[in-house]
Amino acid sequence: MSEFDLIRRLHERINAVSGGGASACVVGIGDDGAVLDIPQDRQVVVTTDTLVGGVHFLKTTDAQSLGHKALAVNLSDLASMGAQPAWFFLALTLPAPDFAWLESFAQGMGGLARSTGVVLAGGDTTSGPLSITITAMGLVESGMVLTRDGARDGDLVVVSGQLGDAAHALELLTAGGNPDPESRAALERPEPRLQLGRQLQGLATSCIDISDGLLADLGHILEASAVGAAIDIDLLPVSASLGGLPGAQRRQLQTCGGDDYELCFTIPASRRQELDRIAEKCACPLTVIGKINASGELVCTMADGQVFMPQGHGYDHFSGNITQ
Ligand code: ADP
Ligand code: MG
Repeated sequence: MSEFDLIRRLHERINAVSGGGASACVVGIGDDGAVLDIPQDRQVVVTTDTLVGGVHFLKTTDAQSLGHKALAVNLSDLASMGAQPAWFFLALTLPAPDFAWLESFAQGMGGLARSTGVVLAGGDTTSGPLSITITAMGLVESGMVLTRDGARDGDLVVVSGQLGDAAHALELLTAGGNPDPESRAALERPEPRLQLGRQLQGLATSCIDISDGLLADLGHILEASAVGAAIDIDLLPVSASLGGLPGAQRRQLQTCGGDDYELCFTIPASRRQELDRIAEKCACPLTVIGKINASGELVCTMADGQVFMPQGHGYDHFSGNITQ
């Protein structure tokens, strides 16, 4: 398979047959660069993430899941900023052209690309150890982007979905075990919370996607906003598979596990009643886990009122500072 064949295949498998909409390219794959029309009343949000074999995913991960996840983690960044995905670029480094591998990879990526309306607009193809870099671009109504720095004293801290399942699956797979299908899907096929991100426009005062664990990522909001927070981690919903674990292990996975790709955001306390409608519309649980305060510290308690101390992760006195 030539490089040209490979690019053509990716193009055919990944891009929607009809294309179109706001994300149509003026010039797409096949020229030296893509040309994109930006609607006048929109701003562009751009994000890049790389997945390296053996570092960001297990070498045993199937190609279809990998295709899905590489795109999903980038779209999750767009979701957290309230953007509508439009285009993405794929820089692919492959050890050897493997037709079957590429077909499944493109199938996984294409499924998510079509369901989210994002178009593959270009990329680069090289040979070497397996690595996937995606740059995704989204559109947001001018001035409406969600950022990390707007949390204010008194705001509520809200989390979408269930946390900890992806980290639990990774822990089991690494130990040679077999996670249940739900946890495995959380790890290998995360669904970026795009609809939720759009709904949070004009409501959330700050937002982040949870990729490195709830405490680390909430810590980024606190730092950027120069505030503190008090949260009760036992308010987080517990999945069936985490429900059977000892409390300490479950809490550790839910607060520090990472790879969740849920959204953590803050809203003014006066607008709490709006969460129900959004949760229903987006078909995902939204849980208030605590409140922003002016202390500059992050304090986590459990249902019994005791302070929760996570293991490792170099988390510095819950002050929102990562020391690793
Ligand atoms: P150049 O040598 O000018 O950089 P390339 O031969 O690398 O061009 O790429 C030719 C076209 O194919 C470009 O439009 C580029 O964006 C696209 N392309 C290359 N690799 C990929 C890929 N992995 N995924 C999508 N498009 C790709
Ligand atoms: Mg060129």
